[in-house]
Amino acid sequence: MKNDKKGFVTRSLHTPYPKQDAYNALHMPVYDGVAYEFDSAETIEEVFAGKQVAHAYSRTSNPTVEYFEHKMKSVTGAHAVVALSSGMAAISNVLIGLVENGGNIVASNHLFGHSYALLKQTLPSLGIEVRFADMTDEKVVADATDEKTRVYFFETITNPQLEIVDIEKISQLAIQNNVVVVVDSTITPPYVFESKRFGVDIEVMSTTKFISGGAAAFGGVVIDNGTFDWSKLPALKEWSAKFGQNALVARIRKEIFRHLGGTMTAHTAHYMNMGLDIMALRVNKCVENCRALAEYFESHSKIKSYRYPGSDTHEGYDLAVKQFEGKPGAVMTFDLESQEACFQFYNRLQLIRRATNLNDNKTLAIHPASTIYAEFTDEEKREMGIRSTMIRLSVGIEDSEDIIADFNQALDF
Ligand SMILES: *Cc1c(COP(=O)(O)O)cnc(C)c1O
Repeated sequence: MKNDKKGFVTRSLHTPYPKQDAYNALHMPVYDGVAYEFDSAETIEEVFAGKQVAHAYSRTSNPTVEYFEHKMKSVTGAHAVVALSSGMAAISNVLIGLVENGGNIVASNHLFGHSYALLKQTLPSLGIEVRFADMTDEKVVADATDEKTRVYFFETITNPQLEIVDIEKISQLAIQNNVVVVVDSTITPPYVFESKRFGVDIEVMSTTKFISGGAAAFGGVVIDNGTFDWSKLPALKEWSAKFGQNALVARIRKEIFRHLGGTMTAHTAHYMNMGLDIMALRVNKCVENCRALAEYFESHSKIKSYRYPGSDTHEGYDLAVKQFEGKPGAVMTFDLESQEACFQFYNRLQLIRRATNLNDNKTLAIHPASTIYAEFTDEEKREMGIRSTMIRLSVGIEDSEDIIADFNQALDF
């Protein structure tokens, strides 16, 4: 992509180590230890005073985790990256870091369930107001905005509705109102989505999904594009005076994640380092499989409708081409004639797994209405576009003929 001459995979594979490895290991080793020693009182004093940069204790920083952060920086061209223990740790740390008690967040009404709960329950209990809005309509967002609005928060593609926000429109509104644009891009990782080009200030991502390499480990990242002037944000004014453009990452590292303890482990970082190298290959295969499935869905009489933003029948197709290079992730939904038919299909699956995750290497299916959204009322489900006739698929990297063969036998009832 455009932020460096070399391609995504090349940059991931060849990101230099922050420091030469003592044994010239070709893969970054897993630095499993907790503490690091110093050769003198003066050195350790300087490190603690922040005058010299060194690892001291792995909850705050670790060489294997640091290398993952460097790789993410190198593939995204971001100003700074912080890795954390999960996607939720990344989201919560960023929002707590950006919004002061009394400030508000305008957030999408269609969010990943635990993000929604964080915004609905936890953040209000800390004195942060949250206003839920339809982020696909910038007039609604403008109406919800006031002088205490600090953040617009939404997902690049909502799940399972598969709606796409016109990010440039929201970021223009954000500039007018001095609001930080924070986007959860888990479904559209950096290989297909260059967030800075569309005016995103902060990208958060669950690296558990595409990046870990097949749902191998939990992780999250905060990506700071370096585009927001932190001196203009109440929560970071003081941090900005001391750390300038690094105000947010400094506050996260030195205060929030250090105190809340959402650290990525070295073993996890190792999975992320390996997973990131081959992520683009996996994304390409997933997208290819989604296209093959879309074609199959078109022709099967039992499939009443389907949604995939990479199909030109989707209302957001043009945005998907513009924002995600026509590779809008690997989540699809389709509808059968009844919930009963969905259950029948589901119980007959032999290859596709009955599981709730996204972007495993294996294809996964779930019936959202009876599982993830079981606790919601019918009215709430309607508002969220959760139909009892709908199945969500997270398409994996199997050979597409095998996925389609499983569909063929599972739909044969
Ligand atoms: C999975 C997911 C999260 C949460 O990530 P964890 O790593 O499970 O904490 C957040 N947002 C989206 C869009 C997700 O799919």
